[in-house]
Amino acid sequence: MSALYAGRTAVLATMHGKQKAIAPAFSSRLQVSVVVPEMLDTDLLGTFTGEIPRFGTIEDAAMAKARAAMKLAGLSLGIASEGSYGPHPQIPFLAAGIELMVFVDNERRIVVKETLIDDAPKFAHVVAGRDDDLSAFLGQVDFPRHGLVVSPNKPVGRAQTFFKGVLTRQTLALAIANSCSVSEDARALVQTDMRAHMNPTRMRALETLAGRLAARIASQCPSCGAPGFGIVGLEKGLPCDYCGGPSVLVRRELLGCASCGHKEARPRQDGLVMAEQRYCTACNP
Ligand SMILES: [Zn+2]
Ligand SMILES: [Zn+2]
Repeated sequence: MSALYAGRTAVLATMHGKQKAIAPAFSSRLQVSVVVPEMLDTDLLGTFTGEIPRFGTIEDAAMAKARAAMKLAGLSLGIASEGSYGPHPQIPFLAAGIELMVFVDNERRIVVKETLIDDAPKFAHVVAGRDDDLSAFLGQVDFPRHGLVVSPNKPVGRAQTFFKGVLTRQTLALAIANSCSVSEDARALVQTDMRAHMNPTRMRALETLAGRLAARIASQCPSCGAPGFGIVGLEKGLPCDYCGGPSVLVRRELLGCASCGHKEARPRQDGLVMAEQRYCTACNP
C-alpha cells in the first residue's frame, strides 16, 4: 500500500462498466477512489466494431479518453484503458489481445502505463447464413456469458447496421435474419462484442492489469521519489551455460522513472543466471 495518493479521487474514462474491474485495485493499493463521468462518450474516440475508426496508437486513444474524462470531471487524476484484438503475433489461427492502461497525473505531469498481453481472449467471428448451425462457434466464445455483435457481411449501400450486445438466442436469430436481408451475399457477420461489460474474459484481463498499474504507481523512483517506477525494457543476452556467450533469454530488466528519466538495471527476478545451451546464439545458431 502506498500513501502517495491516499484520499484522492481519479476519474476513469469508461462507459462500459470498467470500474468494476479497475476501482478495487486503486482503492486497496492506493486508497484512491474512482469515479466515472456521466456524460462521457468514449465511442466518439473510436469503436471496436469499426463504425468510428480509432485514430493513432492504442496509447493515443487511451490518453485521449483519459484527458476527455479529466476535463469533464474537473480532476487532475485520470485513468483509461484501450485494447486491441487480432491474430496472435506468433501462433497462426490463435487470437490475442493487448490491453494498455494509463494513469495520468496532471499535477506531477506524469503518465504511468502498463500493458498486458491476453493470449486466451474470447475474440472470434463467424460468417453465417440465416439457418446455419452456430453451436460450435457459440460454445467457443462462451455465449451467452459473452455478448455478440451482428452486422451484414456485405452491407447493401452505405448504411451499416450493428446489433450490439446480443445476449440471447432469440435476439441473435433476429439479428442474423435482419443482417442477412440487407447483405449482398445474404450472410451475417457475427463477432464477439469486445466492450468490457459484454466480455467477462476481457473484464478479468482489465482487473489483472489494474492491479499491475496500481502496483507500479505505488513504486517510487529511487532518485526523485515520483510514483510509477517500473520496468521499461528488457535486456537480452543471459550467458550460455556451455560457452558463456549471449543467449536469446533476458539478462536484466531495465527500470525507469515516469518523471525524471532515471534508469536502473536489475537481474532477472526469477534468479536464473545462466541459459541452457539451446537458447545460445553461438552454440545453437
Ligand atoms: Zn553457447
Ligand atoms: Zn525519478
